[in-house]
Amino acid sequence: MKGNLRSVRETYAKALLPLYGESEAFSLFYWVAEEIMGSGRAALTVRLDEPLAEDVSARFSSVLTRLLRYEPVQYIFNKAYFGDLELYVDETVLIPRPETEELVRLAASKLAASRGCPLRILDLCTGSGAIALALSRIFPEAEVYACDISEKALETARRNNALCGASVKFFPYDVLSGAPLPEAFAPSDGYHLVVSNPPYVRQSEKTQMRPNVLDYEPSLALFVPDTDPLVFYEAIASLSARILAGDGFLIEEINEAFPLQNKRIMEENGLQSIELHRDMQGKFRGISARKK
Ligand code: GLN
Repeated sequence: MKGNLRSVRETYAKALLPLYGESEAFSLFYWVAEEIMGSGRAALTVRLDEPLAEDVSARFSSVLTRLLRYEPVQYIFNKAYFGDLELYVDETVLIPRPETEELVRLAASKLAASRGCPLRILDLCTGSGAIALALSRIFPEAEVYACDISEKALETARRNNALCGASVKFFPYDVLSGAPLPEAFAPSDGYHLVVSNPPYVRQSEKTQMRPNVLDYEPSLALFVPDTDPLVFYEAIASLSARILAGDGFLIEEINEAFPLQNKRIMEENGLQSIELHRDMQGKFRGISARKK
């Protein structure tokens, strides 16, 4: 890929347009250019006609090849943004979504009255650690715990813990096992918040999903059987009823197809003050409840 940034932009726009559409093609180009050139978008626009060194051109070409295979740009550069956090991501974990930032805001608003108190928070199915790390940034005085069934995801989450300078405690745990939490992670006075974005996409929904998700993101973090799509929610509600403090909250991201079913699961587990929350697209994406 010879020449300058302007001609690379042209090449990227043309090549990526049919796969990603115009606006995403452009934002992908700028994401890549910022990474490769090491400067922000504003600075790049004045460097459009600067000649590019050969190794720089070669990097643009190799990244383009990967984008054309639908590899997510976040995996190419091992970087994703979540609120004001910059996280390391690779194929061991889901790339954090904007809807999940909304879940963090919801959790923060529910706990706002307890700001400054020594809160105990648990994130189930943590993946990259995004939710746990964001909450520990908002509530620096909180003790934050997070677990996942995947050892590889936990490794990534611990790496993010170090990158963020946080002190979240990560541990392996299979939510579907129904087992009690390991003793070290089961505070006797319970948790003030249990939060989770568990797998909730039905296998049958794969037909509507794009190859950047299907071919690269971990299926373990995404999919549930069509015959039992709420299996995680049943396990989480039942566990939460046991481990929440009296005034504790359970807050989850949900599949928009099952708001009422999720509400019923919470009711069946004796949880109170159940509320459904819409995401920025108006879809039911969050649910919250209180132990009492
Ligand atoms: N919202 C994610 C997606 O659509 C799914 C997240 C999940 O399964 N927890 O890809």
